[in-house]
Amino acid sequence: MNKPVDLKTVPSVPLWIDGKQKPASSARAGDITNPATGQITKRVPFCNAADIDAAVQAASRAFPGWRDTPPLRRARILMRFREMLDANKDVLARLITAEHGKTLADAAGSVQRGVEVVEFAMGIPHLVKGEYSEEVGTGVDCHSVRQPLGVCAGITPFNFPVMVPLWMFPVALACGNTFVLKPSEKVPSASMLMADLLKQAGLPDGVFNVVHGDKDAVDALLSHPGVKAISFVGSTPIAKYIYETAAKNGKRVQALGGAKNHAVVLPDADFEFAADALIGAAYGSAGERCMAISAVVAVGEAADPLIAKLKDKASKLKIGAGDSKVDGKEMDMGPLVTRVHRDKVAGYVDKGVAEGAKLVLDGRTFKGAGDGFFLGASLFDNVTPDMTIYKDEIFGPVLIVLRVKTLDDAINMINANQYANGTAVFTRSGGAARKFEREIEVGMVGVNVPIPVPIAFYSFGGWRNSLFGDQHVHGMEGVRFYTRGKVVTTRWPDANALPQGFNMPTLG
Ligand code: NAD
Repeated sequence: MNKPVDLKTVPSVPLWIDGKQKPASSARAGDITNPATGQITKRVPFCNAADIDAAVQAASRAFPGWRDTPPLRRARILMRFREMLDANKDVLARLITAEHGKTLADAAGSVQRGVEVVEFAMGIPHLVKGEYSEEVGTGVDCHSVRQPLGVCAGITPFNFPVMVPLWMFPVALACGNTFVLKPSEKVPSASMLMADLLKQAGLPDGVFNVVHGDKDAVDALLSHPGVKAISFVGSTPIAKYIYETAAKNGKRVQALGGAKNHAVVLPDADFEFAADALIGAAYGSAGERCMAISAVVAVGEAADPLIAKLKDKASKLKIGAGDSKVDGKEMDMGPLVTRVHRDKVAGYVDKGVAEGAKLVLDGRTFKGAGDGFFLGASLFDNVTPDMTIYKDEIFGPVLIVLRVKTLDDAINMINANQYANGTAVFTRSGGAARKFEREIEVGMVGVNVPIPVPIAFYSFGGWRNSLFGDQHVHGMEGVRFYTRGKVVTTRWPDANALPQGFNMPTLG
């Protein structure tokens, strides 16, 4: 057991407002734990409405100057920020591993995926160009522009402390908005480092701010009249709440929710290749990815050989602290984020057994060293759509297999699921893959690619209960989300101008 910690001696994470670290005025705070040891390492303040107001006021003051900064100058700051992220990749990965638990290599990979969004955002001046039509009427021209919204806020989940904030603020800033980020209270430190790097890159004070906290902080952002748009990524019930509350308060909102991502394996697939891909996609990051494969749909005779390979590979996973090595090799899987979450995931394994699924591999038997929040890999066979382990998002190292007869059965099952974030098909048949791609009602689709996270210049987002709102993040949809269109019709009075009249103008 860890020794109890004197909380007065534990450092507290500050806020970042107006280009400086600030203490919160709120007295409420939470613990940050190292998931690999169970030790409390830091405290994080839970902001109140006054703290949120201070951040929004700073962002509001900074907005006119940032909006009027030429787009290329804004882009140059992002270029310097990109270099600094790259130079600090290892430090960021260590911060992620210390608070989330995932392995260092996995953490570094997620930083890289975030850097790609910064690279995309550097080119945004090209994407916010307007259109121009001359002589749409006699002596009349017409042009369109896309303008920033003002202060935008981002509320992010625990599982990607760097990548998910980077889905949002580089795009928002490049479009000329200012930003208030509320990272997950479980993993706030990486956001603080990014704030410091942005300042070093030359970002003016107040353009980017970081606040911390729970529902109180989020509610203050959702109701603040100075906030024009909310980007949210997290679980489905909270995403729905954010969408409804922010929309009721007149804000633009995109709220990405939870997932149950299915991989369909057809009998003609390369089972060795598919099993390798599925093991990484299911158990990487201890299953705490919104694009993790959590359900395999085995078609026809694919099931038996595939499950044998999955069992063999999953039973050999190296599990331990995310920054540790065995025989010079990194772990495959670290601990879960908190004790509460580990126990919740273990409870789903209990439930699967109780509801009659066949437990092929039992992760509950894994005992890590010390008080870390470890759980081994679990694998279920003979799962049916009525079972809780199919219906709920588990968000842990639990892979379930459902058996169906045909590709149509698989497609119908996936299309009936409440979640529709990502999915994949494993096959050698172009025709089957094409049918799947066309008929599946899911936002992101992989063909022999288990985690089809789109590259930054495409947009990321799901369908149904995996997204509330109209626009996905980054790519063109991100640019549309963080800008609004204006169309200007111009006529200059000169000798050729037509006389004004009382009838509906036809411009002709
Ligand atoms: P969460 O919904 O518990 O928290 C997300 C954010 O909402 C955090 O900043 C948190 O402080 C805040 N929050 C929590 N409870 C709140 C409440 N009652 N009112 C207002 N705000 C509240 O999610 P999490 O546990 O941090 O992250 C895991 C979830 O995020 C999973 O469901 C996962 O699928 C999802 N996720 C989705 C995507 C995606 O792209 N669709 C990406 C990553 C994670």
